[in-house]
Amino acid sequence: MAEELVVATKNQGKLREIRGLLAGLDVTVTSLADYADAPDIVEDGDSFRANALIKARLIAAHTGKLTMGEDSGLEVEALDNRPGIYSARFAGEQCDDEDNNRKLLEELRGIPEERRGARYRCCIALVKREDIIAEVSGQCAGRISTEARGTNGFGYDPYFLIPEYGKTFGELDPSVKARISHRANALRALQEVLQEYFPAAK
Ligand code: IMP
Repeated sequence: MAEELVVATKNQGKLREIRGLLAGLDVTVTSLADYADAPDIVEDGDSFRANALIKARLIAAHTGKLTMGEDSGLEVEALDNRPGIYSARFAGEQCDDEDNNRKLLEELRGIPEERRGARYRCCIALVKREDIIAEVSGQCAGRISTEARGTNGFGYDPYFLIPEYGKTFGELDPSVKARISHRANALRALQEVLQEYFPAAK
């Protein structure tokens, strides 16, 4: 029976990607969907790193299992790096991806392509009981397109254009995102630690 890793998230898009990125390891990835009685996470840190740690610590204390906290978001240069840590609730507390994307487009209206640079960022903290096992981060540079393109991924992906491919994450095959995304880069930095806990699947 593979060892368990709890990912402290309810975000299904994130979870799907993390599961895919860990597919080579002998690990059973669970999430908050498997811990209905887990306490609510208050994301009141002032950075991706702080929020990743808040998530990991709270859920590790609750489950007693090795726990991954992941905090990620979009930084847009022309918006002074907003929405940043507020990416999930850019358009308000009860908003969804569509509301957030609408607000993003509105705020960037009239801004020419060369000034639409952006990056996704991801911080991951791995915690067991009270110990921080590792903290890593990753980035992915792109541009915000003027129209939605493609339906792959989640969140801001239909607008997140990768210049090298001339396509958004919404259009690119998920296998490409799994190679170059902020999340993939962060998990790559965690590879050695994860291999210690979860040797490669036979
Ligand atoms: P968190 O759950 O507080 O970390 O919020 C992450 C938010 O950042 C998501 O709800 C999305 O809006 C955005 N985000 C993070 N990573 C991605 C991604 O890979 N694609 C699209 N949006 C992302």
